[in-house]
Amino acid sequence: MDVHIFDNSHTLRASVLTGVSLFMSVIALCFAVFHFHVAGKYFNAVLDLILSGYSFYSYQLAKKNKHKKHHIQIFVYLFTLAASTSIYIQPIEHGTYVWTMLFPIFFYSLLGIKQGRTYCFAVLLVHLASIYHKVDANDAFESLPTFINLVACYVCIWIIAHIYEFNRRNIENSLTYLASRDSLTGAHNRLSLTSTFKHFETHKDDETTLCLLFIDLDYFKKVNDQYGHDAGDKVLMETTRLLSQVVGDDNLYRIGGEEFCVTLFDHPIEQAEQVGERVRSMMSQHLFAFGDKRIHITLSVGICEYSDGDKLSDLLKLADLQLYKAKENGRNQVRLSRTSKDLTEDISTC
Ligand code: GH3
Ligand code: MG
Ligand code: MG
Repeated sequence: MDVHIFDNSHTLRASVLTGVSLFMSVIALCFAVFHFHVAGKYFNAVLDLILSGYSFYSYQLAKKNKHKKHHIQIFVYLFTLAASTSIYIQPIEHGTYVWTMLFPIFFYSLLGIKQGRTYCFAVLLVHLASIYHKVDANDAFESLPTFINLVACYVCIWIIAHIYEFNRRNIENSLTYLASRDSLTGAHNRLSLTSTFKHFETHKDDETTLCLLFIDLDYFKKVNDQYGHDAGDKVLMETTRLLSQVVGDDNLYRIGGEEFCVTLFDHPIEQAEQVGERVRSMMSQHLFAFGDKRIHITLSVGICEYSDGDKLSDLLKLADLQLYKAKENGRNQVRLSRTSKDLTEDISTC
């Protein structure tokens, strides 16, 4: 499972693009034939032909989920241009202006809220100017009700499209947040760590490095035993706040009861050790308050560095091994992993 399981914007845009582009590839071809043979509007015929060809291309890409953002943008531009010129060129009796109603849903479902809003506004202005020009040329007074109905209907559809997309995006963000966060402390959870690591594996190059810090609170069970489970929970929440002040919220994960992980990208292991030392020292100086009592809680840190081909479980094992040694050695300390590469170097320098 991945935390992006709930991030369905891409899937939604792909489905809309697949459906609309297939339909447009057929309908635009029909319009091209009509404009060429019947109406004699050659400019429209060429535009329709380009739209039909590009729609079919977009359909092929969207079907295989290979489309990029710019494919959607080009499709939207072409479609808007073809529809707008038709509205401007065709006589008003043909009712081409009915296509205007499609745009709010079309823009919001393919481009999202920010661009959807801007495009809706721009198209409304352009189409109104274009329709007004035609209405004015006929009989402005008699066509006024058509004009008002058109605007009112367009704005209604626009509002509905906006509310729908706004709610959909909020639900998507909330679900993604819930899936990636620990409910007690608000830190990223283990699932989120898995996703971060997957992303790192997919996008890393020769220069990218990753150090993993495995942090465990010392004698945490005693806190629960002496002060109660609620006090233990408060310590975990406060520890999360303290740790994220040092390493940043984006790099901190709660992966077990009182166990945390920190990911450090593009930090040499020496720097990771310094970060571990800062975390350890900050914790040992902090005082946790239980009623009128103030107590120190320490933590131990095990650190390891990613080597090509390592899995997340390998890294966790390596860091955990160092953590275990830190515990054995008396706790409240930072230990670095000696990977096979480091060991070979050590032997050769002896
Ligand atoms: P060590 O120094 O060896 O790590 O000792 P420890 O007592 O910290 O280690 P141990 O793993 O024995 O204890 C961890 C405790 O953390 C046990 C469990 O009751 C407690 N714990 C796990 N999750 C939570 C939680 O969400 N809230 C609270 N309050 N306690 C938790
Ligand atoms: Mg512990
Ligand atoms: Mg533990």
